[in-house]
Amino acid sequence: MTLTFPPEASQTAKRLAAMIAADTLPHAMLFTGSGAPQRKEAAVALGRAQICEAAGDGGQGTGDEDYGGVSLFGAAQPAPRALPCETCPHCRKSAQGIHPDMKLLEGGGGARSFHIDAVRAMRQDAYILPNEARRKIYVLVNAQTMTAEAQNALLKLLEEPPDYVSIILTAPNPRLLLPTVVSRAAEFSLGEAVESAEDAQREATVRQIAQTLAAALYAPKTPYALLEATAPLEGDKDLLRETFPALKRCLHGMAVKTPAAAPRALALIDGLAELELALERNANLNLLLTRLALLGVGARDAER
Ligand SMILES: [Zn+2]
Repeated sequence: MTLTFPPEASQTAKRLAAMIAADTLPHAMLFTGSGAPQRKEAAVALGRAQICEAAGDGGQGTGDEDYGGVSLFGAAQPAPRALPCETCPHCRKSAQGIHPDMKLLEGGGGARSFHIDAVRAMRQDAYILPNEARRKIYVLVNAQTMTAEAQNALLKLLEEPPDYVSIILTAPNPRLLLPTVVSRAAEFSLGEAVESAEDAQREATVRQIAQTLAAALYAPKTPYALLEATAPLEGDKDLLRETFPALKRCLHGMAVKTPAAAPRALALIDGLAELELALERNANLNLLLTRLALLGVGARDAER
């Protein structure tokens, strides 16, 4: 069988089609690379393929359209069966976006616009048996826009989903998601990431701020150095939200690279988690930045 995918992702499509035929498709998958529309298209195609009737017979067909590659009358072999078939009742519904067993979730588009409420509703829904199809599909588009809280709420379901559940996440690259989410999903790259210039610029800015801040928090020369490191975040809550994961990655990297640095780096990560929670609860930005700077001072004092 062949999976209808964006053309540039044909290699991934082949692997996935083989997995569907062998019934070995992972329960949780992450589509990365390429562009946002291609990732969404592929994730939706894979979701639809799984609930298509043609997927249920392991690609063997019903016997009247496929003769094991041997044509009865010497005519050309039938083309491999396409998934989704676009003709079965499931395909007709999923094409219109009204299949009860396939849900598409996405945030409002902006950073951290994909909220925990959507994940909570999905979690509840996932434990209810499918209505019509053999499987239940959840496509989480642009998972990098999920808040950390929303990603955390997803963990248990990703780890132990009911047998019939399939979760497909999409994101430009795995670094934009919590490592705990990435480690629980099988990643499939759809090819070279096509980031908009704006996205790339933003990512570079976030990385730069995170690196400066991680160094200042870990070994603040003066409290002023800490204030200076937090200055780019003033007046921009979204930027602070995006910086937290990058900052934690920097500190985690320091802990791994230098074991002696681990206790302090981990204590800082711990402190950051608290601030992240406060941010989710809409705490005052200036207050958060002050607390952030104080984390560094606290780490320094604890060393003495
Ligand atoms: Zn179908």
